[in-house]
Amino acid sequence: MKSLLFLPIYYSLATIILPFITTLFLPNDTPSSPPPVVNSAEISVFNHETQNVTTMTMEDYLTGVVAAEMPAAFETEALKAQAVAARTYTMYKKGSNDHDADVCTDHSHCQAYLSEEKMRTNWGEAYDFYLSKVKACVLETRGEILTYNDEPILAVFHSMGGGQTVNSGDVWGSQLPYLVSVPSPGEEVGTNYYSTHSLPFEEFAKTIKTAYPEAEINSFLDVSVPTLSESGHVKSVLIGKVSVPGTEIRKLFNLRSTKFTLTFSEGNVTFNVTGYGHGVGMSQYGANAMAKEGKTYKEILSHYYQGATLTE
Ligand SMILES: [Zn+2]
Repeated sequence: MKSLLFLPIYYSLATIILPFITTLFLPNDTPSSPPPVVNSAEISVFNHETQNVTTMTMEDYLTGVVAAEMPAAFETEALKAQAVAARTYTMYKKGSNDHDADVCTDHSHCQAYLSEEKMRTNWGEAYDFYLSKVKACVLETRGEILTYNDEPILAVFHSMGGGQTVNSGDVWGSQLPYLVSVPSPGEEVGTNYYSTHSLPFEEFAKTIKTAYPEAEINSFLDVSVPTLSESGHVKSVLIGKVSVPGTEIRKLFNLRSTKFTLTFSEGNVTFNVTGYGHGVGMSQYGANAMAKEGKTYKEILSHYYQGATLTE
């Protein structure tokens, strides 16, 4: 408690003395020092598997992120778009004070990251080829991030949007101006673009009742037709007079996305699912399809993050 009392004093001393000390080392003829360079900074990374914090350059970190988040066999322009999205997301997270380190390697919290060892295992004989390919995409976009109102954007991405990406407000409740639903063609080539999940009706009802005890569910007649969002993803389903969000249904039944239909036959419930992931922001398979058509990473980014500015 006592030491806390001195904090304001330390801070005020620091604000007075630090600029003074800094000016001592600056030559007199430097009216404008260059702006801080985002890419040359080192960042601290909390490895959620080993529980260790490692410091590395932004480029080395981003190489591991792009390698983990997007297949290295994808088109170069798609990988470059991924590198910019990952750098932007890193800058966004870095300023959020979510953990002691700048970022972590947990994909559900920050972004997935592959160590050199894991890249070697994943890529085998293609290691040298893929590493230099991914590294080049990170370096060729060095320092570039996406901004909105001069702030790094929440550059989220997903595997396949199911033909159309989702408004952020439909998934997380808050609508960001640059995370709006856009068409995302060409994703069908992805593995399991269409997937099916079937289970007995009793099991379906039990799962719903465990999560929503107030739901009165006796037969499939208690399950109404899903309400869809603009992108065709399920916003909610009225089940036994309870409105269950599509995102909750996805979680409860481990569905690949919220773009699904529900059918009932012979005592079973079947989900027919399209796409993979939350569907917000850049679709990776959509980005690859755009790159195959000759679009640049800048065009890919401005399509999936509408109104955001690419800033160097
Ligand atoms: Zn994190």
